[in-house]
Amino acid sequence: MNTHTQEMRNTLYELQAKGMREDIKRMIEQKQKASLAIALSITNDKSLVELIKQKKIPSDYYSNLILMFQKETLYQNVWIQIVDKDTISLYRSWSPLKGDTLVDERDNLQNITSKKSVIYTINAGKFDLSLKSIVPIFDHDTLIGSLGVITHFNSISKDLKESDIDSVVLLKKEYKKNLIYPFTKMFLDDYYIANLDAPKELRDYLKDHGIEHYLNNSYKIENGYIIVSYELKNTHAKTLGYYIMSKKISDLPNLDLKYFNFKMIAFFVLFGLILLFIFSTTLLLKNRNQKKYYKNILDSSNNIVVINNGIKMLYVNNAFFRYFPTYKSLEEFKKDYECICDLFAKENGYLQAKVGDDYWVTYVINTPDKVHKAKIIFLGNTYFFTVTAALISKEENHYSIVLSDITKEENYQKELFNLSIKDTLTGINNRHFFDQKFQEEFSRAVRYKQPLSLIMLDIDFFKRVNDEHGHDVGDTVLIEYTKLISKILRKTDFFCRTGGEEFIIILPLVALAEAQKLAEKLRYEVEAAKKVVPITMSFGIAQYQKNDTIPLLLKRVDDALYKAKENGRNCVVIS
Ligand code: GH3
Ligand code: MG
Ligand code: MG
Repeated sequence: MNTHTQEMRNTLYELQAKGMREDIKRMIEQKQKASLAIALSITNDKSLVELIKQKKIPSDYYSNLILMFQKETLYQNVWIQIVDKDTISLYRSWSPLKGDTLVDERDNLQNITSKKSVIYTINAGKFDLSLKSIVPIFDHDTLIGSLGVITHFNSISKDLKESDIDSVVLLKKEYKKNLIYPFTKMFLDDYYIANLDAPKELRDYLKDHGIEHYLNNSYKIENGYIIVSYELKNTHAKTLGYYIMSKKISDLPNLDLKYFNFKMIAFFVLFGLILLFIFSTTLLLKNRNQKKYYKNILDSSNNIVVINNGIKMLYVNNAFFRYFPTYKSLEEFKKDYECICDLFAKENGYLQAKVGDDYWVTYVINTPDKVHKAKIIFLGNTYFFTVTAALISKEENHYSIVLSDITKEENYQKELFNLSIKDTLTGINNRHFFDQKFQEEFSRAVRYKQPLSLIMLDIDFFKRVNDEHGHDVGDTVLIEYTKLISKILRKTDFFCRTGGEEFIIILPLVALAEAQKLAEKLRYEVEAAKKVVPITMSFGIAQYQKNDTIPLLLKRVDDALYKAKENGRNCVVIS
């Protein structure tokens, strides 16, 4: 393999590793925030306050709720834990153990009360390495305890399995001593394994090759697999464990795009809905402390939250000013713009201020199964958002709107897409691109009765080049001659490497005579170039005819090339 190819491969691997790490980060956040929403909804319970004050929570208090989660949701294993204000355990849904003190929790609770900040974290406790979201419980304005919703890594590794990623979740060995009742009972050397479905082959492989080599946010290409590790950190940025993922290299590019897209949309829509839920709850809450806590969740979010009444903007959260930093207040912003929608880019595929006869907010609410994307350019920066909205007060006509930032994901996806349609050796379009583009152009030619031609070209006696000069020189020949041909072609021609040393040029709106002229010119220039090693090429040409199908047209151009080879090579044959 030459260095150019190697570089392209490395870029692809790096992107893949980065993508897998971003995916896992997002999936963890998604689970934590969904757990936060669960925690918030169950703490709005008056009788719970009484039970906490009396320190008598029945052992089956949440049994039905947990059963319902198991039946109706993706959460096969939700654990609920309640502690009092001194972080003494009052209730565990999965164990009768109570009365013990949770040291970690003291820290968490302190954070909640002093900073009024959100707590969703990763926790290394007595039972497991798990995800945890914690909500304070107030009696009027006094803190009396907190409720944690704990979920596990299993549903995440299951999700990853669907896109052919195997995973092992490990607890760092220094936390092993805290584990008194290890939930999965599985270990890899001194590392506890936190996902029940960690595949045996991967566990054995990591053990045999020395697990320590695979930690620390790196990736490795081994044995036909890409192995990526991601550090699991708690809210104090302390590393508690590692998420190790492994995927077959042969499964890499195309599948991933689909997977990525699906995950991204599912996450951002869900996330927007959670914020809307938190917002509407904030409005309903009477007590000050709790209100402050909820408002902090909104302000700490990276997503823009806007409240409006039909057309006027009434409230925005802090995140809003991070995107529009020239304004210090909503009043200032409103001097320049009536609505955030005035900033929506007027481009196809993105949400507009008016959609048909509908105002954008109404449109978003009325089409809940659609994903709405908005594009905003401000101070030279381009941002992409998904938009979710809800009616929060019918009488006052108040709507809340959440814009979730997907800029990184959009850019990453574009980068990945560009890589997936490019040939790694020559940098021109690949077979995958050809299949898509040709289908598009073929339909256009049929529908609008426009001309469409194909040129198929193949290097003559290329085997000899490899045999006499070596494979690396062969590769350089491919690179140099594709450069030469690319220079001669126009922007509207699509040059594709469809096989080893076989190429097809798609020529939309070009008829046979013109295609022939072009092929003759290419034939001449290739022969005259004498770059690296002198070569010649043979060419077949075909134009779309009435009653052609895609396979038929491809066969005709292939036959023409075959004839060019038969006729002695270095020539052009028309079908
Ligand atoms: P013909 O004139 O009949 O086309 O003769 P040919 O030797 O070119 O025959 P053919 O097209 O069947 O062989 C193509 C050869 O191209 C076989 C393979 O070794 C070589 N090849 C295919 N892909 C690559 C590549 O990526 N790099 C290099 N260096 N060689 C390649
Ligand atoms: Mg050949
Ligand atoms: Mg060939």
